[in-house]
Amino acid sequence: AAQMHRTPSPPYLQVFDLVKKYGTFSALDGVSLAIAAGEFISFLGPSGCGKTTLLRAIAGLDFQTSGSLYQDGADISWLPPDQRDFGIVFQSYALFPNLTVAENIAYGLENQGTKKHQIAERVAGLLNNVGLPGAEKRFPGQLSGGQQQRVALARALAPSPNLLLLDEPLSALDARVRVHLRREIKALQHRLGITTIMVTHDQEEAMTMADRIVVMNQGRIEQIGTPREIYENPVSVFVAQFVGTINLLPFTPCGPDTVEVAGLKFRCPHSGRHKGTGGVLAIRPEDIECTDVHDHDANCIDVRVESSEFLGATMRLKLVQGPDLALIADVPIRALRGSDIRPGQAMRVRLDAERIRLFDEAGNC
Ligand code: ATP
Repeated sequence: AAQMHRTPSPPYLQVFDLVKKYGTFSALDGVSLAIAAGEFISFLGPSGCGKTTLLRAIAGLDFQTSGSLYQDGADISWLPPDQRDFGIVFQSYALFPNLTVAENIAYGLENQGTKKHQIAERVAGLLNNVGLPGAEKRFPGQLSGGQQQRVALARALAPSPNLLLLDEPLSALDARVRVHLRREIKALQHRLGITTIMVTHDQEEAMTMADRIVVMNQGRIEQIGTPREIYENPVSVFVAQFVGTINLLPFTPCGPDTVEVAGLKFRCPHSGRHKGTGGVLAIRPEDIECTDVHDHDANCIDVRVESSEFLGATMRLKLVQGPDLALIADVPIRALRGSDIRPGQAMRVRLDAERIRLFDEAGNC
């Protein structure tokens, strides 16, 4: 049978070597990335890493110092924002307080010369889509923060943009509303198939919503990957620490596939690349389990419980051995089989060799 050869479709949005300087300071220091049509991308990183700067350059709200941007094959690098195709939602709802919800949403449509009854239909449809049916006549001041952000989302979507930009859209909301809106925005994005970029410093938000996460650090991209890739195979200590909780233990190399931490030997099959140098051993709390087995070759060690925290499905234990080794372990309540955990108690745990990651002294893979 003849083989089908499909040329991969070009990325919907491409960023090439973007640099943004404020004086001598580089807010973006050579950022390149490609986003496929329909993807939900999250820019994640600590305050000041350049997420917002990158988003604003994509929107044309601030221009880059150098580098280029392509959207749907067209060079948009130096186009003003009103000639680019995107809708944007900011952290502060930024609605006009003296206009009704309908007027706020229709604002961009009226400029496009759309007919009155079409606008009314479109507004009603959008309000349905964001879960606020019938809210046309209300004013922003009469709405909760979460509701105002829904209106802002409807307004951003009103002109049917092909790109949706979200700048920390949920960070001003309280935790419960935030979790709820997360799911709704994700579902809406999926339904519309609209390419979406969301800036956030909240790793849980990025993990639960994004198809791929762009982790940024000091104006550079540290890693791009699916939430799972980022969590399970972080390329650096920075990423490992930023996404989830992780134990970081200085090690020295010690024979094939073996490292030494605080005088104890641990087997880790992925240690080959770090022959001759030391670095940091990383292991997630859930990859340390209680065991009855006494087998040093299987990374079983004796520890003492220093403290414990009840987290519902798991117990987070702080475990120590002597003055030099401290570990955080998340133990499923079920694995404790009803037994109580007391500070000072002796315990044996196993570090899953397959889940140990080693980083060099600079914190890289
Ligand atoms: P946050 O979560 O705090 O908004 P961020 O990752 O979005 O952080 P940016 O707003 O992109 O960070 O800022 C990146 C860096 O550029 C910061 O160090 C910031 O101080 C600097 N910066 C941003 N705008 C300006 C400006 N107009 N003038 C000078 N420096 C700026």
